[in-house]
Amino acid sequence: MITVEEATEQVLSRIAVLEPERVGLLDALGRVLAEDVISDIDVAPFDNSAMDGYAVRAADVSGASEDRPAVLSVIEHIPAGVYPTEVVGPGQASRIMTGAPMPEGADSVVMVERTLGLQADGGVGGTVEILAPVSHGENVRYRAEEVRAGEAVMLAGEQVGPAGTGLAASVGHAELVVRRRPRVAIVSTGDELVDVTEKPGPGKIRNSNSYSLAAQVLDARAEPHMLGVARDTAEHTRALLSRAPEFDLMITTGGVSMGDFDVVKSVLEEIGELDFWRVAMRPGAPQTFGTIGGTPFFGLPGNPTSTMVGFEMFVRPAIRKMAGYTTLVRPRVIATLAHDTKKKPDRRYFLRGRLTRRADGGYSAAISGNQSSALLTAMYRGNCLISLPEGESHFAAGTEVMCIRLDMEEGTA
Ligand code: AMP
Ligand code: MG
Repeated sequence: MITVEEATEQVLSRIAVLEPERVGLLDALGRVLAEDVISDIDVAPFDNSAMDGYAVRAADVSGASEDRPAVLSVIEHIPAGVYPTEVVGPGQASRIMTGAPMPEGADSVVMVERTLGLQADGGVGGTVEILAPVSHGENVRYRAEEVRAGEAVMLAGEQVGPAGTGLAASVGHAELVVRRRPRVAIVSTGDELVDVTEKPGPGKIRNSNSYSLAAQVLDARAEPHMLGVARDTAEHTRALLSRAPEFDLMITTGGVSMGDFDVVKSVLEEIGELDFWRVAMRPGAPQTFGTIGGTPFFGLPGNPTSTMVGFEMFVRPAIRKMAGYTTLVRPRVIATLAHDTKKKPDRRYFLRGRLTRRADGGYSAAISGNQSSALLTAMYRGNCLISLPEGESHFAAGTEVMCIRLDMEEGTA
């Protein structure tokens, strides 16, 4: 058996980043840029007002107050989207709206709340009282303040979020070049499996793993392809596994333990290459990894929780690497155990647990239900995996343990 770290390293060394593709702006959300995003314009494109108010010459209003307002004549009204034509001279002002271009001659904007319209209600041809001074440049957003035309606003390797989507739109990109989403084939194995739409007959159970895995693939921003259930024969298993090269990655579940009908490993050895098949962890020691026709292949164990934990530990980082992400591991936190717990010392345990905040701000971790790997409820109720190291067996309440946060995306803490 190899350690979790050795297995992770072997997996990642076999994974290559996928090629880029050009997609519509909204399709890029959550994905990783494969090219810098270059601006085609200056941002801001022209000097403009940050406020609704009056564009003035700061020198004209330097002594203004409520008691001694500066009175200016209003020469133009400048709404957003219209370019001004009048030059603001001494003793003059132009009424200006937020985002409208600054008129020549003016150097600052007095917000409307600090003014009082006199003649013509402060409109064109009338006068306005300025009740407070402004400093030179106040309430003006300058041309190219943020970006110059030709400069990169986002860099290759960065993830596109909602703000990045808006930023890309503002600099003229209706499409972005991002890493492709990995196409992931999912194969369940077992003669006992029936579909979710069926009531299981004697000796049968529903195929839940195809669904939990497809959900995990989606959650990892990749594309699941459910290929169905392989019967427990070498022929049928071979038929489905040999489709691996159609995809970027293949996952099977079940058929990798020591049972009489566990044929996945032997089929993999026959049509592909086996890298490892046992990892010192629980749940899910039989974590099989290899390649079929160059496509990375994961033979996850069949028990529903073992499958999900195997996906978390090995498949998810592989998918992320393929998709170009640089952070491959979930956030981890130190928590104190809420109760005593025991384990066998031979391997790493990943208990399904729930993290909560203690009054002092630290974290407490408790198991979130029955730890049988055949049951999914503790996984459902939990928000973390409590990692208990190999070599130890007794953990008293209050012991500090490392927890892997399943409720937070990689790179978010
Ligand atoms: P196996 O490794 O094939 O012996 O599977 C181990 C356990 O997981 C058995 O109890 C199987 O019935 C169960 N199992 C295997 N595949 C699935 C699946 N797709 N959905 C739910 N349970 C499964
Ligand atoms: Mg089976």
